[in-house]
Amino acid sequence: MTDAPSYGFDTLQIHAGSRPDPATGARQTPIYQTTAYVFRDADHAAALFNLQEVGYIYSRLTNPTVAVLQERIATLEGGVGAVCCSSGHAAQIMALFPLMAPGRNVVASTRLYGGTVTQFSQTIKRFGWSAKFVDFDDLDAVKAAIDDDTRAVFCESIANPGGYITDLDAISAIADAAGVPLIVDNTSATPYLCRPIEHGATLVVHSTTKYLTGNGTVTGGAIVDSGKFDWSASDKFPSLSAPEPAYHGLKFHETFGPLAFTFHGIAIGLRDLGMTMNPQAAHYTLMGIETLSLRMQRHVENAVTVASWLETHPAVDYVTYAGLPSSPYNHRVAAICPKGAGGLFTVALKGGYDACVKFVDSLELFSHVANLGDTRSLVIHSASTTHRQLSEAQQVAAGAGPNVVRISIGIENADDLIADLNQALNKASA
Ligand SMILES: *Cc1c(COP(=O)(O)O)cnc(C)c1O
Repeated sequence: MTDAPSYGFDTLQIHAGSRPDPATGARQTPIYQTTAYVFRDADHAAALFNLQEVGYIYSRLTNPTVAVLQERIATLEGGVGAVCCSSGHAAQIMALFPLMAPGRNVVASTRLYGGTVTQFSQTIKRFGWSAKFVDFDDLDAVKAAIDDDTRAVFCESIANPGGYITDLDAISAIADAAGVPLIVDNTSATPYLCRPIEHGATLVVHSTTKYLTGNGTVTGGAIVDSGKFDWSASDKFPSLSAPEPAYHGLKFHETFGPLAFTFHGIAIGLRDLGMTMNPQAAHYTLMGIETLSLRMQRHVENAVTVASWLETHPAVDYVTYAGLPSSPYNHRVAAICPKGAGGLFTVALKGGYDACVKFVDSLELFSHVANLGDTRSLVIHSASTTHRQLSEAQQVAAGAGPNVVRISIGIENADDLIADLNQALNKASA
């Protein structure tokens, strides 16, 4: 099944990209646990290496199990192609790599996953790249931050640690006017809740580690290309528009058109950066995606129930969940993520840092882990863990201040989750 845009999401999450195995008829996608693929003859090998023919050479670049996952994620996001890689952080580097060069910058939202803030504010400096962090609710500040060296604008649809929804239409209009691509991390929302390409995103990145796989088994990432950006409209993106010396002067955009970014991601990105997803991980993620819509419906339903209950608890200062009427971002749900604001939010405790630590240590059903988007409910005290490398000002800007606990609501019975939260809150405020 390759080209059936008329199918609904629930059908596509099971069928997109997969077909019965041509050799055996196996109905489920086999795990092609192989490093290499036999060439028909020397001419076939030469055509593959010259990118004149699409096929399998070596599993650092392409693998049939991973290819099914790539097609499935691209279809669910409404993109033309996708490249899977070893983690969400790998996907971010792989997305920026063809766009950036020493001296270039990315304009990024302050409301990002803590690891991304660290990757962008520290690690990318080693490549000579930099990030300018801006409040994405201040559209004039976003405009002002984009300069001649800006090569991308980056934000999350529903921002981790929850409670914030980006006005993707307004941000993509600004990126478009400046002639730079908008990259949206859609990890917290998933394509079931939000389809950033429909709001003008050029590229969508994922940590498939989270909801797409869904049960905390493997790490992975994906970059989806909308196929809509004109890489040749300016001389800003020579990796895609100018002759590529490593392929005898081939121009990716001229040769591959809307698939230029995807082909570059495989032929240059995976080939030379080697951040490859392995076929076992692709298998687990394919299994997860088959039930994505069902899980997301329950994650949202439970999150609304639990967040509403938490708001009424005397030990709770406030809850930031965009699915609650009290949220300043509630009005963006209908436009950006009409099926719900996800399963991730934060709760601030009146008792501050100490109460948060006591609360997290007292939970029994919830696990205190550095993960989210699992079938099981998870919590983390961001300030002492994922956002620990950040200054307190950065923590607060990211919605992860010392008085805040992040909650990733699973798909258990909501009553059981509330009972566990209740006993832990009572201990924390005793
Ligand atoms: C987890 C996460 C990442 C990083 O993904 P890894 O798979 O852990 O590398 C990036 N963005 C968001 C929003 C995340 O939640």
